[in-house]
Amino acid sequence: MSKTTVTQPLKNYIGGQWVESETTRYEDVPNPATGELLSQVPISTRADVDKAVQAAKNAFASWSETPVVDRARIMFRFHHLLTKHEDELARMITLENGKNLPEAHAELLRGIEMVEFACGMPTLLMGESLPNIARSIDSHVLRFPLGVVAGITPFNFPVMVPMWMYPIAITAGNTFVLKPSERTPISSVRIAELLKEAGLPDGVFNVVNGAHDVVNGLLEHPDVKGISFVGSQPVAEYVYKTGAAHGKRVQALAGAKNHHLVMPDTDLRRAAKTIASSAFGCAGERCMAASAVVAVEDIADELVQLLIEESNALVMGNGLEEGVDLGPVIRDSHLSKVHDFIEKGMAAGADLVRDGREDAKEKEAGYFLGPTIFDKADAEMVIVSDEIFAPVLSIMRVKNFDEGLDTISRSRYGNGATIYTNNGKWGREFVQRVEAGMVGVNVGVPAPMGFFAFTGWKQSFYGDLHANGKDGVEFFTKKKTVTSRWFEDGDTSIGSQKVFVK
Ligand code: NAD
Repeated sequence: MSKTTVTQPLKNYIGGQWVESETTRYEDVPNPATGELLSQVPISTRADVDKAVQAAKNAFASWSETPVVDRARIMFRFHHLLTKHEDELARMITLENGKNLPEAHAELLRGIEMVEFACGMPTLLMGESLPNIARSIDSHVLRFPLGVVAGITPFNFPVMVPMWMYPIAITAGNTFVLKPSERTPISSVRIAELLKEAGLPDGVFNVVNGAHDVVNGLLEHPDVKGISFVGSQPVAEYVYKTGAAHGKRVQALAGAKNHHLVMPDTDLRRAAKTIASSAFGCAGERCMAASAVVAVEDIADELVQLLIEESNALVMGNGLEEGVDLGPVIRDSHLSKVHDFIEKGMAAGADLVRDGREDAKEKEAGYFLGPTIFDKADAEMVIVSDEIFAPVLSIMRVKNFDEGLDTISRSRYGNGATIYTNNGKWGREFVQRVEAGMVGVNVGVPAPMGFFAFTGWKQSFYGDLHANGKDGVEFFTKKKTVTSRWFEDGDTSIGSQKVFVK
């Protein structure tokens, strides 16, 4: 695999060196498809955080002065290495996360998109200017990096989500400390190696493995100026509040419950295929996965049947094997929580019309759950109000479009929402009125491409500037507005003060 073999306990990457953590605590990193041990991850300490932040701080002076074209050229070389090692990286993602190989390739490509975006940093960093705002006075706005910034990432996209952060951050002149998910820490090892091979100076990109202590160490560290977080809602809220209380700029992307509204005029088979792929792809562990369907009543029976048919056709297994559609969920502990949700859904009176626990009985190892579908759920049930983050889909029946919108608006989350319709009026109404930040019209996973921002609403996002796109550049830079006036030699006048007159 990589020259940093994954059978060794992982180290931290600080100042361009692989450094052992000061901790005595390590956690196992199993392959979720087999349960076999892949590696062990150090649960690093605050002392490890201090070392990484110091290394990043030391690197900042020279890196922030490096011309942006040179920084972008390193990104171009990194891009080349990512595509050269695409198969190896995709395999790593599948091994540590469980998603199938095509999904792993797709993840990597969506990450590479962010590197491509960052390659345009010379243009993106351009400021604004307006000459002669008053007689002989000019104004211009310049952008500067923040300094040391940190990224804290979830398990579900171990390569792509960090790429929502560090390509923009470092190409804009910041130095970076990554705290990857302790459940999928392996691919970040290879990313660090490739960044070094691309010519990134030591200390510009650092990795500290671990959990809460590392997160708190970063949130409270006076030399960390910005925090980009992606993960579950309670942790996002905590990170946002704690980071802000310590004077940092924070963007915190959180959990989701994405509702898909199915109108009667749509092609139902196509809608069912798209919903099944959205709900069960990546084992439902996507923040943009369909997890609740709102069906307008007269098509509900047919839609449920079609969803069951689509689900029955999915092949569950080890994502490294060809033809596998549905991989495992991330851990056995997560699977137990999902089983609890299924029990709660049944106890609340929803109809379990497809029980994915049955599919999993054939599996001797790994953390598997087949596609699981509840019909006749309602917005008050925990299977609808809470994020399950697994291949579990709940269907609610409503009378009409307005009741559908009302049902969606009851969710505390607002990451994504999709409508299936052939009617432009419904499509437009939905776009205008639905309370979600990323909207699909006949699109199952309306995750924007990297040059747009990832615009979750409600409790799916905490902060002001979103990740990716121009928001991402704004987030990782601060502005300076300059007002200047120049005098000729020998001119002793005080000049016009008009600019200051209210
Ligand atoms: P998580 O919240 O458990 O972990 C995310 C990060 O926070 C990890 O690095 C983890 O070590 C750290 N962390 C966890 N608990 C902590 C605590 N109590 N204090 C401090 N740090 C803590 O999330 P996860 O299970 O790894 O990822 C899945 C979640 O991420 C889902 O809720 C999913 O919707 C969300 N997600 C959201 C988006 C988005 O764009 N909105 C994208 C991907 C994933």
